[in-house]
Amino acid sequence: MLNEELVKSIVDQLGYSEFFIITFIMFSVLYFSFSALGYLFIIRQKSFKKVQSKPFRSEQIMTEVKRSFVSILMFAILSLWMCYGLKNGIYKYNYSFKFQEYLIEILALFLWNEFYFFIVHKTFHLKIFYKYHVDHHFSFVPSPFSAYSFHWSEGLLLGAVMPVAMFFYDFEFWSIMSLPVMSIILNALGHSNLDFFPDKDINSLYSFSKRHSLHHQNPHKHFGFFLPWLDMIYDRLFSRNVS
Ligand SMILES: [Zn+2]
Ligand SMILES: [Zn+2]
Repeated sequence: MLNEELVKSIVDQLGYSEFFIITFIMFSVLYFSFSALGYLFIIRQKSFKKVQSKPFRSEQIMTEVKRSFVSILMFAILSLWMCYGLKNGIYKYNYSFKFQEYLIEILALFLWNEFYFFIVHKTFHLKIFYKYHVDHHFSFVPSPFSAYSFHWSEGLLLGAVMPVAMFFYDFEFWSIMSLPVMSIILNALGHSNLDFFPDKDINSLYSFSKRHSLHHQNPHKHFGFFLPWLDMIYDRLFSRNVS
C-alpha cells in the first residue's frame, strides 16, 4: 500500500538543492545500471546477431559516459524548474495511486515520449542544428552507453519531455516517476546494436534496435525511436520521393 500523504509531504518539503541532487543521483543510477547491464549482455551473449559488425571506436564508451553525465547534469538543472513549477502551482502531481489510471498514463507517456523524441530528433537533423547532434552520431555503432550521449543542448531539450507533459496534464506521481525508468530501458535496448527479431521486416514494431543502429550508420533515415509509424507518417506527408 502506497502512503499517498507521506509521499506528498516528502515532495512538498524538498527544496531546490534536494531536487537537484536527487535528480542527479537518480538518473546516474538509472544510466549506469541499465547501460552497464546492457553492455555486459551484448558482449557476453551469443544468441543474437549484431546489426553492424564493426567494432566500437577507440575511446567511444568513455566519450559516451562523459557526454551522458553532461546530459544528466542538464536533467538536474531542469529539475530546478520542476521544483519551481510544483511550488508555484504550474505543475501538480496526482498523489492518489489507481492501477488502471497508472497503466493508461504509462501508455500515454510512452506515446508522448516517442512523439516528443521524434520532433526533437528531426529538428536536430536540420542543417543548422546538426553540428550539435553530431555528438550523438559520434557513435557509428551504438552501445547502451550511447543512451544519454548528447550535446548539452540536446540533453536539455530531450530532458524537457517530462515538464512539457506535466504542463498539460496532472499525472499520477508514480507514472511520472516511471517515465525515466521506461525510457532508459528502451534506450539501452534501442542502442544495443542487436537484431532481436532478424526475421522481421525493417518497418516492423519489433525491429526498433535494428532501425536505430541503422540510423547511427546512415543518419538520413529512421528518425523515430521505438515505433516505426512516425517516420511513415512523416514520409507520407512531407517527402516527395519515398520508395
Ligand atoms: Zn541513438
Ligand atoms: Zn540522429
